[in-house]
Amino acid sequence: MGSAKTAMLLTTAYNFEERGVAYICLKPVTDTRDARNVIRSRIGIERECSWIYNNTDLYDLVSHLVDGGGTRPGWLLVDEAQFLTARQVDQLAHAVDEYGVNVICYGLRTDFRTHLFEGSRRLFEIADTIDEIKSTCDCGRKTIVNARLGEDGHVLTEGAQVAIGGNELYKSVCRKCWREGIEL
Ligand SMILES: [Zn+2]
Repeated sequence: MGSAKTAMLLTTAYNFEERGVAYICLKPVTDTRDARNVIRSRIGIERECSWIYNNTDLYDLVSHLVDGGGTRPGWLLVDEAQFLTARQVDQLAHAVDEYGVNVICYGLRTDFRTHLFEGSRRLFEIADTIDEIKSTCDCGRKTIVNARLGEDGHVLTEGAQVAIGGNELYKSVCRKCWREGIEL
């Protein structure tokens, strides 16, 4: 998904590089069709990232980086953080507290049915700070839902929380447009 939050992550990465700040990019695996481990934005910037699998222990991952003798990353940038498990969010928090690394997670609050993602729920519970990236619906209101659209443009309310598909499947809309899209 080439989204505003991914563009923000890549901008942060770029700023770190300019200032010589060590960081790594990480991303939960959801779409195995991606051959390369990259975080990509619509404006053409991309950065290599490490995959996070469902069973990846992120505390261990940071431990190995810190104790491995290489460049110690001061910052971890996590894309699509809504797909982390609650356990992995706890592992990141543990790494922050134990090793003093900084973690920025970029992700969606809720799924296409307006329910919290597991990773997002845990982040809301234990993150030090939460910043909302605001965007505007076509109608001018604030976007609330990342709506999943059918081929005819209807807003879908059934299906798996994570569907593998192209960008055209999703659109950020306000709550009103979301409801009216269902009732079309
Ligand atoms: Zn709207």
